[in-house]
Amino acid sequence: MATYIQKLGIVLKNYTDGLGHLVFTNVCLHCNKELVAQERYLCWICWEGLERTYFELQKDPSILDKLFWNRVEIKHTCALYVYGKGKVSQSLIRALKYDFKAPLGIFLGEHMAQQLLHHPMSKVEAVLPVPIHPKKKFARGYNQSELLARGLSKEWGVPVLKGLVHKRKHTNSQTTNDRFGRWDNVQNMFAASSQIRNFSHVLIVDDVITTGATLESLARAIKAANPKVQISLLSFAFTK
Ligand SMILES: [Zn+2]
Repeated sequence: MATYIQKLGIVLKNYTDGLGHLVFTNVCLHCNKELVAQERYLCWICWEGLERTYFELQKDPSILDKLFWNRVEIKHTCALYVYGKGKVSQSLIRALKYDFKAPLGIFLGEHMAQQLLHHPMSKVEAVLPVPIHPKKKFARGYNQSELLARGLSKEWGVPVLKGLVHKRKHTNSQTTNDRFGRWDNVQNMFAASSQIRNFSHVLIVDDVITTGATLESLARAIKAANPKVQISLLSFAFTK
């Protein structure tokens, strides 16, 4: 009997120790190294490993600007980091999308705002997160672009526009489709409210830009509701 209780004790201890590890240990989202007190989400080596695009410092149009040429008129575009397989940016976005890390989204939004504090896009009237379908929001617990927008809003002192644009239907993940295949699916993805007429310059916020098709569709829906509005785009990362 004593042996049984001892065994049970060991099992319980292992279980709670494991749980403690899960709840309290703070590890780098990219390399899994344990973080020290000053580090948040990434160790400093991985923060350094984030590959900056520096699009905002380019005098000539960036490849991100050119992505929207002949598609929809965009005032300013920027994406801070290069996105790609195995990159630190991918670990951050993965954690944001699939690991229920809502505070990370606000933290990254604040970080983006600080990086672009003197950029003209910080003077927009409002930030507009890319809407996701309510089903997806329910499954994830939040809209990751909205969290980024909240971080930007906090730093720049501009409002987050919610509910002015909605997503029309649920679409499956289309990350493997090519630009043209994807376009068919997203052409009429969004509808914008006439309240968008109250604004003359808004900033669309997204986590990652790949083909730009979703953003193009969103920008078109906003322009359909207010042809005079200027639209800028900001994303945490960009797939080159
Ligand atoms: Zn690390």
